[in-house]
Amino acid sequence: MLLMSPHGIAIVADGMGGHPGGDVAAGLAVAATAEALEGAAGRKEDGFIDWARSVMRDGILAAQAVLLQRGEQQPELRGMGTTLTAMVMDPTAGAWVIGHVGDSRAYRIRGTTLDQLTRDDTWLQQQIDRDASINRAAARHSPYGHILTQCLGLERPPQPQILSGYAAPGDLFLLCSDGLTGMVEDDVILSIVLDADLDNGSDPQIPVRQLVDAANHAGGRDNVTVVLVAFEHA
Ligand code: CA
Repeated sequence: MLLMSPHGIAIVADGMGGHPGGDVAAGLAVAATAEALEGAAGRKEDGFIDWARSVMRDGILAAQAVLLQRGEQQPELRGMGTTLTAMVMDPTAGAWVIGHVGDSRAYRIRGTTLDQLTRDDTWLQQQIDRDASINRAAARHSPYGHILTQCLGLERPPQPQILSGYAAPGDLFLLCSDGLTGMVEDDVILSIVLDADLDNGSDPQIPVRQLVDAANHAGGRDNVTVVLVAFEHA
């Protein structure tokens, strides 16, 4: 599930597989978060980052409330869950805020460097945090690696990660579901984006399509969502 809005908002939500309500959860979470972010745009008072950080947190908690409420109304949807990675930008100030729950990801590509901005809410990441010597490459293929430690929709209130910063001219942001990152290594993601030569005005849809193709060629059976945000400001 993906949303790009003219208000400088991009959202990726990936419904939890194995539950009939996964797609419903992703759709509801995107809609509720977008509504909160867009609805608050007219009430912006402080600097962008302070404003957007608090609105982002409120928006994610509002999405959580919507999911719980729907689960009460429709018992067959109870227990549905989704990841959510949302970004809101102020191109004039070059500022951005990201809110995140789950194992979708936001990356920043600056020059020839790819940085994962969000932290995966997964069992694997938790193990890595406890023991840095864990072999990430081997662990990512573990069947337990991708178990979520939190997502939206479950009884336990989510604790969203809220990140913010200022973009440099030419920065690119990549938001994606684990359907991409579970299949394609970071260095391959980076080279696909860099080869697209977006600085010279190439169509950003081309690398997005190539990333999805790469995930599918790698045997991806999960749905793949990718959005590339070009950040141009003076
Ligand atoms: Ca997934």
